[in-house]
Amino acid sequence: MDCLFCKIAAKEIPAKIALENEHVVAFHDIHPQAPVHVLVVPRRHIVGVQEVAAEDAPLLAQILLAGREVAAKTGVAESGYRLVFNNGANAGQSVFHLHLHVLGGRALAWPPG
Ligand code: 5GP
Ligand code: ZN
Repeated sequence: MDCLFCKIAAKEIPAKIALENEHVVAFHDIHPQAPVHVLVVPRRHIVGVQEVAAEDAPLLAQILLAGREVAAKTGVAESGYRLVFNNGANAGQSVFHLHLHVLGGRALAWPPG
């Protein structure tokens, strides 16, 4: 399958890995929007939030827990961080493999731009 994040998860395309386990791979975003900007992706190809099924709940928990662990490992757990799933055009989704953005290291505006 011609999917960028599947290829990163399979190490066919290099990325700066922040964390990995049997369920997920987390890597630093190539165009960081904050001092810490890491993407957590499931190893299994899921297009996006709209494709998630109820049976995927354990995997979603793994993604969330990995996001929290990335925040701890990158030193932003105390100062705070944002977890974001962009879904669809208005949200600016550009890669169609489910990914959780972990953003931190500076004060983040709300509402988002
Ligand atoms: P989206 O806009 O779909 O929510 O997020 C996709 C993210 O993937 C963007 O923040 C973009 O910078 C990042 N990205 C796109 N291509 C690559 C790449 O080849 N390597 C890495 N590490 N990040 C990428
Ligand atoms: Zn994929």
